[in-house]
Amino acid sequence: MTTKSPEATLGQKHIQGATGPWEIVIGLEVHAQVSSNAKLFSGAATEFGAEPNSQVSLVDAAMPGMLPVINEYCVEQAIRTGLGLEAEINLYSVFDRKNYFYPDLPQGYQISQFKQPIVGEGEVHVDLADGTTSVIGIERLHLEQDAGKSTHDMHPSKSFVDLNRSGVALMEIVSKPDIRSSEEATLYMSKIRSIVRYLGTCDGNMEQGSMRADVNVSVRRPGEELGTRCEMKNMNSLRFIRAAIEYEARRQIDVIEDGGTIDQETRLWDAVNNVTRTMRSKEEAHDYRYFPDPDLLPLEFSQAWVDEIKSTLPELPDAKKARFISDFGLSPYDASVLVADKARAAYFEEVAEGRDGKLASNWVTSDLFGALKKVSKDISDSPVSAKQLGKLIDLIKDDTISGKIAKQVFAIMFETGGEPMAIVEEKGLRQVTDTGAIEAAVDEVIAANPDKAAEVKEKPKAMGWFVGQVMKATQGKANPQAVNEILRKKLGI
Ligand code: ADP
Ligand code: MG
Repeated sequence: MTTKSPEATLGQKHIQGATGPWEIVIGLEVHAQVSSNAKLFSGAATEFGAEPNSQVSLVDAAMPGMLPVINEYCVEQAIRTGLGLEAEINLYSVFDRKNYFYPDLPQGYQISQFKQPIVGEGEVHVDLADGTTSVIGIERLHLEQDAGKSTHDMHPSKSFVDLNRSGVALMEIVSKPDIRSSEEATLYMSKIRSIVRYLGTCDGNMEQGSMRADVNVSVRRPGEELGTRCEMKNMNSLRFIRAAIEYEARRQIDVIEDGGTIDQETRLWDAVNNVTRTMRSKEEAHDYRYFPDPDLLPLEFSQAWVDEIKSTLPELPDAKKARFISDFGLSPYDASVLVADKARAAYFEEVAEGRDGKLASNWVTSDLFGALKKVSKDISDSPVSAKQLGKLIDLIKDDTISGKIAKQVFAIMFETGGEPMAIVEEKGLRQVTDTGAIEAAVDEVIAANPDKAAEVKEKPKAMGWFVGQVMKATQGKANPQAVNEILRKKLGI
C-alpha cells in the first residue's frame, strides 16, 4: 500500500488520489476536564499529580451502597461552556449508565448523558490561515465521569490501577462532521481550548490530559454521501492529531481506490512509526446498554439561573477579535493571534491603549512573543511588563530613540527587566537630533569617500550607503530623517 505521501496538498480541502480528488470529513469528540476542586459526584479532590489513590472517596471506589451526589459547580461550568459555544442549554437532562467492564472502572459503568444531554446544538468559528473563517457545528455537550488509570509497564507481571481520576467531571463536546482538513481540525481544537480557558471552565492542558480528543475521519469524493469513518481515541497532542488525520485519510483513499472498503473501527495512532493501526473493529465494539441512572434524578434548573450565568461571561475571543480590529485597526490575522490567549490579549490591550495599535501589535506579536518563545516563557512570566513596553513605544514616538535603537533597548529590558528610559540614559542611546553633530558626521564620511560622493550624484539611489555610514559613525543614534536631509543637501542631490 502506498502511504505517507509527502504531497503539499495534505492539510488542504481536497487531496488528490489516483482516480481524482477526495474530500476529508472529520468530526471531533473533545473531552474537557471541568476545572473543579471536587469530582462530579463526590467531594474527593482532583489535583493533578497527587500520590496514586490518595484522592478517592468511597463513591469513586464504588463501595456497595454509596450514592452519587451531583456537584452543582460542575453543572454550572457545563452551562458556561455551552453558552460560550453559542449552544442551546437544555433545562432538563438525564444521567445514564454506560455499562462496560474495565479494571479501572470499579462501578462497572460510567455515569454519562446519552439521549438527553445538558447542552444541545451550537457553533464554533475557526479562523484559517488563508484568511477565511469556517463555522463548525456543535452537536452536543454532555457531562460524564472520567475513569481511573491503569499502568501496565511498572512491573513485569502486575498492572496497577490509580483511581484518582475516577469520577472527575468531564465535558464531552461533540462536533458535527463539518471539519474538512487536518489544519481545520487542529484550529478547531485550539479554538475550543481558547474558549474554555477564557471561561475558566477547563485549564485546556493537553499534556496533563485535561483536554483530549477522539478523532473521527472518513473520506468521500466531493459531493458524495458521507463515507464510513474510523475513530482514533484519546489524542492529546495537536501535532499527533494532524499527523493521524493525514495518514488516515491517505490510507482510506488508497484502500478505496484499490477496490476495497473501509471497516468502521477504532484505530490507534502509533507515534513511533507514524501510522494508525486497528484497535478494535465495530463487530467487537461494546453495546453499552445505556439506561437512566436510578441513583440520580434528572437534572433540572431554571432559565433564570442560565441567564444569571450568562451575565457573568467574559468577553470571548470572537468578540474581542472584532473589537481589536475596529478599535486598534489590526488585521484579522494579527487580531486572531492576539486573542487566542486571554492573558496575551490583556497584555496587548494595555500596551495599545492610547497608542498606535498597529505598532503595539507588531511589538507584542513579533518582538515580545518571539523573545518569550526563545526562552520558553509564558506571558505571565514576561520580564518586560506591558507598562514598560508601552513606555518604550512612547520613546520611539517622541523621537527619543529610533525604531532600530528600540530593538536594542528591548533586548536589554528583556534581559534585565529594566525601565526603558533608564536604559537609554545609562547606555547613552538617546537619538541625536542635534543637526550640528549630524552634520559633522556627514562631513567626515563625505571627506573620507570622495569617489563615492561623486558617483552618488549620478546615481542618487546609492545614497543609502552614505546613510548607513553616518548611522554607523553615530552608533545608530542619529535621527534617520535628519541624516537623510543633511546628506541630500551636502551631496547636492
Ligand atoms: P459515537 O459516539 O458512536 O462515536 P457519534 O454519532 O456520536 O458516534 O459521532 C461521533 C463523532 O463522529 C462526531 O463528532 C461526528 O461528527 C463524527 N462523525 C460522524 N459521522 C462521520 C463520518 N462519516 N466521517 C467523519 N466523522 C463522522
Ligand atoms: Mg465516538
